[in-house]
Amino acid sequence: MKLRIGTVFLVSLILTWALPARAQDLGPGFTKVKDGIYVYAAKPGNSTCSVILTDEGPVIIDACQRPPDTHQFMAGVKKLTDKPVRFLIDTEVHNDHTFGHWVFSPPAVVINHEGAGEAMKKYFDPKRAPTLAAQSAEMRDAVKGYKMITPHLEYKNKMTINLGERTFELLYLKNVHSEADTAVWLPKERVLFAASAANVKSIINLRPFVTIPDVLASYKLMKSLNPEIVVPGHGPVSTTKIFDEYEGFYTLLVQRVQEMASKGKSLDEIKKELKMPEFADWSGQDRLGVNIDVAYKSVKK
Ligand SMILES: [Zn+2]
Repeated sequence: MKLRIGTVFLVSLILTWALPARAQDLGPGFTKVKDGIYVYAAKPGNSTCSVILTDEGPVIIDACQRPPDTHQFMAGVKKLTDKPVRFLIDTEVHNDHTFGHWVFSPPAVVINHEGAGEAMKKYFDPKRAPTLAAQSAEMRDAVKGYKMITPHLEYKNKMTINLGERTFELLYLKNVHSEADTAVWLPKERVLFAASAANVKSIINLRPFVTIPDVLASYKLMKSLNPEIVVPGHGPVSTTKIFDEYEGFYTLLVQRVQEMASKGKSLDEIKKELKMPEFADWSGQDRLGVNIDVAYKSVKK
């Protein structure tokens, strides 16, 4: 009997050493996408941050919603590998994806499309870190050592990274969400990180420079890759069905704006009258107005 218990203990000890970490071992908020590919979000709807392990060290995509999340995520990454982070790829420029750069870099080399650094500098708020630090002891510890790091490398239109056994294709998505949006495609694994061109059942805050034809073109491009798994900038891991859902939303929105505008209605009247009851279950209903602004521009061209 003694021997048996000892054997069970020994076998479980060996298994703990030999088996790759499971998502639940990394802590709450982690989802395993495929072998060596994990996505983290502290809360549903938060920005996603991901790690892809390679023989030559991990690659990170996005730096998480809030600084405490960035540290939580990094603690998970350290359970998966003791190799230093090689690259950190941004899918956009906003703080909920980029503020945490300093946690990874150095040593990580930060990459995003041309224009990312300039946009980050434009949005930089020197009061943000001290304001966050004043919120709680947890936050104060989490922002310790903060400094703004803008991308070290900016590519144009397309870039390929070959690292260890993996290939990463970085694809520029023009005018879809921020000043520099990058989708990351892993062709061998058929996993696509889709930035914030589409999220999951949430009306997106469209900035004035976003155009709906460009957004629709980005869905077409991303669907043409035929990914098996799509990791959105916000929301749970999904498939290309999120592109179909957003295509449906924007197509109907533009159609309604077009009809109302052709009847001579002003933008203000359209904003008061236009409803999208088919999408009533989506979050971010207060952003319908900015979506109408962008749709109106596309029909008035
Ligand atoms: Zn954003």
